[in-house]
Amino acid sequence: MASVTDTPTASSSSPELLALQGKLKTLSDINAQLRTVRRIPTQLVKPPEVGILQQLNFDGTLAEKFQLVKDLAAALASESVQGSLLAARASEQKVKGDLIFTKPRETRKRKRQSSADPSPGSPRVYVPEAPQPTSRFPRDEATALMLDGLAEYLKEFNRANPKIKVHVVTSDPHRTLYLPLLLRYSIRDALTIFLTVDGADGTSLIVENATAFASREQKPHHSQSDFVVFQKLTQQVVRIIQSEPQVPLRATLALLNSYENLFSQKCTRESCGRILSVEAHIPPVARVWSENARVWSQDGLKNGGSPGWEPFHPTCLQR
Ligand SMILES: [Zn+2]
Repeated sequence: MASVTDTPTASSSSPELLALQGKLKTLSDINAQLRTVRRIPTQLVKPPEVGILQQLNFDGTLAEKFQLVKDLAAALASESVQGSLLAARASEQKVKGDLIFTKPRETRKRKRQSSADPSPGSPRVYVPEAPQPTSRFPRDEATALMLDGLAEYLKEFNRANPKIKVHVVTSDPHRTLYLPLLLRYSIRDALTIFLTVDGADGTSLIVENATAFASREQKPHHSQSDFVVFQKLTQQVVRIIQSEPQVPLRATLALLNSYENLFSQKCTRESCGRILSVEAHIPPVARVWSENARVWSQDGLKNGGSPGWEPFHPTCLQR
C-alpha cells in the first residue's frame, strides 16, 4: 500500500520505475523482433509464384532474412535483454508466490473433462475438426470369419455375386491355408483388388492391406496401378480399413461390393451429382456408410430406404 502515500510525481520519476519501464520496453522490442523472425519459415516454404500479395506481405531478400535472424540472436545475447529477462523471471516467481488464484468454475470443469490439459494456464490442446461426413464401417452384424471357414464362405460368396469373384492366391490349391494369405477380389470389367488377410488374435480374419488395379492390368500385387483412379481407390479403401483395423473380413468384402458400378455411379454430394469429378476426372471412389443410403433418381437425390455405402468423390468429401 506504499503507492497510496507516494505522490504521483514522485513515483513517475523514481529511478526504479524508470528502470522497470526500460526493461519492459526492451522485452516488448525483443518480442516484436521475435515475431518478425517467426514469420520467415512460412514465407520460405511458400512457392515464389504466390504473387504480388505475397511480396507485399514481406519485403526483403533471403540475405536480409538471415540478417534478421542474426540480429535477433545478437539482441537476445545482449546485456540489456538478458537483464530484463532475468528481472521478468524474478518478478514472475514473486507474483506466483504472492497470489493465490481462485480457479474459476469453468476451468475446473474443463480440467475434469479433459485430462489432456496439463494446467489451466497452458494453451489448449489443438483438436482438429472432424471431417464431415466420416467414412466408417457400420456398427453391425458382420460376424467373425475363421480361417477354417474361409473356403466354404468364399464358395458361397462367389455363388451369390455373379459379377464378383474372390479367390485365395496360392500356387497349390490343395495345400492347407495358413496366415497371412492373399485374396484376389475381382469385379468383372471393373477392377481387381488384392487383399492381405491375417488373423486378429490368431482367429477371426481381418484385412490388413488392399491394392486395387484395373481388371486387365497384369501387375504384381505389391506394386501399384498405373491408373490414377485405382491409386485413389486404393487410398480410400486402405483409409477406411485402417480406421478400424479389427473389422471382420465380411465387412470389408461388403465395402468392396459397393464398387460394382464404379464407372456408372454418381457422387452423392447434392451439389455434384457427377460420375467423373470436375478436377481429377475420376469416378466417386470414396465411400461413406449411411443407415439410409441416398440414391440419384430423375427427381434428384432421394433416400434409398436401406443402409449402404454412399459413393463420393474424395474432393467432394473435403469441401
Ligand atoms: Zn462429387
